[in-house]
Amino acid sequence: MPPSTILGYAARAVGQPLEPFTYEPPQLGEHDVRVSVTHCGVCHTDIHAIDDYYGITTYPFVPGHEIVGYVSAVGREASGLKEGDRVGIGWQGRSCMRCEWCLKGEEQLCMDIVQSGTWVPYGGFSSSVIVDSRFAYPLPEAMPSQVAAVLMCAGVTVYSPLRSYAAHPSPKIGIVGVGGLGHLAIQFARVLGYEVTAISSSPEKKEEALAFGADHFIVSDDRTGMRQVLFGFDLLLCTVSGRIDWELLVNTLKKNGRLVLLGFPDVVLNSTDLVAHQLSITGSFIGNRARMREMLSFAQAHGITPAVELMPMSRVNEALQRVRENKARYRIVLVNDTVGVGI
Ligand code: NAP
Ligand code: ZN
Ligand code: ZN
Repeated sequence: MPPSTILGYAARAVGQPLEPFTYEPPQLGEHDVRVSVTHCGVCHTDIHAIDDYYGITTYPFVPGHEIVGYVSAVGREASGLKEGDRVGIGWQGRSCMRCEWCLKGEEQLCMDIVQSGTWVPYGGFSSSVIVDSRFAYPLPEAMPSQVAAVLMCAGVTVYSPLRSYAAHPSPKIGIVGVGGLGHLAIQFARVLGYEVTAISSSPEKKEEALAFGADHFIVSDDRTGMRQVLFGFDLLLCTVSGRIDWELLVNTLKKNGRLVLLGFPDVVLNSTDLVAHQLSITGSFIGNRARMREMLSFAQAHGITPAVELMPMSRVNEALQRVRENKARYRIVLVNDTVGVGI
């Protein structure tokens, strides 16, 4: 039986705090599963979307896309999952399965990406969600739900480029921003054998960044420290959305180096350095389904563990504010205390 109503938390307009929001359960499609949400991480992308940074948000908007929960209903054509299974769900909740990218197994590049989000129609800050069963991932049994939740977006987003763009076996990598994505990127990169430098605007994060596995730590506006790593990195992974001194940062790349953009900062680049140093700039978006499965078993095998602050979902606005103020250490995961959990 579907739940009679679902309780979520929605922004009613651009940038507004979330309010309790009750809605009718969306229709379960043939390939869909309904999932009772127990945990949902707070990703900075939720905040960009509340603020309509991408220009695609429709209101009322229920954010949330680092989801763990239990399957409560299964569509007729959904295979491999049954009621009661614990699953994780990331940013992508479905795809067209027909475009050239879906056919190549690069579902994150689906031509219908705007409609592919787990947020459509409503996301994981909610008692339940509906997604295509092919985007609901069974979780390793021993993996705690709050750990799995963070891996579903932050984990796959950093793991995917770390796997794709390592130029040689032990590259030197700079990870810019020690937040939800950044603190996991440090852990994955360390296990993959990279020499890791964390570049952060927050000097007080140094000890923890080193504990996550960074070999070195530089404060991004310490111009002397940054100059010491000029031409130092094969790869830069940029996980921030705030202000960046691009000239200084780009010049920390070795010639032929690559900057991978994961966050959404304003980008102002000097073409001379790009051309003369033969640099590459690459955007990278979440990861495909194969990468997601690979990342989950890699994280489980190597004990990759996000640092999590647990908060009840009813305090979602406080959680969002902590992320906006760069106070989360290092990912807030909301535990569902809404009516209807378990339905
Ligand atoms: P987060 O937890 O808020 O971390 C972002 C980090 O950026 C902060 O911890 C901070 O690190 C740094 N920062 C620099 N200037 C800042 C400012 N003005 N305000 C806040 N933080 C600032 O965010 P996240 O969830 O890791 O997401 C990071 C970015 O990646 C966001 O733009 C998000 O939308 C994007 N994202 C992209 C994908 C993708 O598929 N490409 C997936 C998920 C998220 P320091 O204190 O160390 O400087
Ligand atoms: Zn995310
Ligand atoms: Zn497609």
